[in-house]
Amino acid sequence: VIDLPPQPLTALERQVCQEIADRRDELVELVRALVAFDTVAPVPGLGAREEAALQGYLAERLRAGGGDVRLCEPDPALFADHRMIPDGFDFAGRPQLVARFAGAGGGRTLLFNGHIDVVDFEPIDAWAHPPFSGEIADGRVHGRGSCDMKGGVACMVFAAEVLSKTGVRLAGDLLVNTVSEEESTGAGGLVTARTVKADAAIVPEPTELDVWVACRGSLLATITVAGRTGHAGVAPLHPDDGGPVNAIEKLAIILEAIRRLREEWALRPRHPFLSPADCVPTVVEGGEWVVSYPSSCRLECHLEYLPEQADDAGWGANVEREFAEWIRAAAAADPWLAAHPPQVRWQLGGVPPAEVSVENPIVRTALAAIRAIGLPRAGIGGMDNWHDGATLTTEAGIPAICLGPGDLHLAHTTFESVPISELVSCAQALAVTAVRYCGPAERNPR
Ligand SMILES: [Zn+2]
Repeated sequence: VIDLPPQPLTALERQVCQEIADRRDELVELVRALVAFDTVAPVPGLGAREEAALQGYLAERLRAGGGDVRLCEPDPALFADHRMIPDGFDFAGRPQLVARFAGAGGGRTLLFNGHIDVVDFEPIDAWAHPPFSGEIADGRVHGRGSCDMKGGVACMVFAAEVLSKTGVRLAGDLLVNTVSEEESTGAGGLVTARTVKADAAIVPEPTELDVWVACRGSLLATITVAGRTGHAGVAPLHPDDGGPVNAIEKLAIILEAIRRLREEWALRPRHPFLSPADCVPTVVEGGEWVVSYPSSCRLECHLEYLPEQADDAGWGANVEREFAEWIRAAAAADPWLAAHPPQVRWQLGGVPPAEVSVENPIVRTALAAIRAIGLPRAGIGGMDNWHDGATLTTEAGIPAICLGPGDLHLAHTTFESVPISELVSCAQALAVTAVRYCGPAERNPR
């Protein structure tokens, strides 16, 4: 919890918060409407689901609420060169949306960014409340995406609508941006980074209404260890005499090296808001026949790394080098692996870490706003896993924080839900932050 001078709500802000509280049922209905759209993230070979219908629904609402809406399927050429985007990618059936609530001029531009895609709902039988039902129970909205992050998307849309409908004109622009692809490639956030200008962004991923300023980056490694075939039932010759070499047993040397690297990273100075860098072996495959020495073995690993480990471009080249060197050094101690070094390859799908200074105005404004609406214990934290805000910060230099309703531990589960009380508080916090960050211009009569 950091110290900030208390900044109580102004009369205007109090009125906006009251309006949001009074219309809480409308906010809940908006969350339920969004959950009902099937927007499961695309897997290669499968087309769009109901992304266009959801975006069309939001576009209509935001237009009616006074926003200037742009809804389009971006040209893939915009980022064909980018390492996050697989070959042949396009946005067919998955339009991206930006609504601009123009300010009177002279203020800062604030961007609300949220993703509308969700992860798969299987196993469907495990859900007590069906994934697209949006059922209400125990003061919560249930369903796939309620927490990650259609609840947060509803809050940002609702905050902008209420500000507009209550006649609050801001000095700077308020942008409401909903994207797809966060759970897959990150392409939607990348389009925003390449086409939208803003002074700061808030991504209402589930933070339980804290302000999260940092996230780790990730890398996906494939390590291939070579062996030499032979009959498993026959006493082996020495490898120097052409005898068999067991690739699975050689992999054990690499696994032990990875364990030591994790220990090394865990013992380095801690980041204030993030867990240490890590490398988790996640897939292993090796061997051909139960009576043969395995000729090769393949290991896949998921690496998470800290902002201070990033290279000059903000990406993971330093970590890739450190990892490969660590594996090479471990292999050098084994005669076979020294002569047949394991191959380390990096898969597509790596994403950058990001960090916004706690001194940044958006951090302090948002934190003060949450405290002003009655959550005095709100603090600063980080998200261990990547999110679209990292792309905005890294690629576009737009400082992006997370501030949203719900508990991240419920994301991607079959018991996903979001508390209604946090939806209301989040919409209030976003509205007050917008007023303070963009600056109040004037108040038009209703
Ligand atoms: Zn999310």
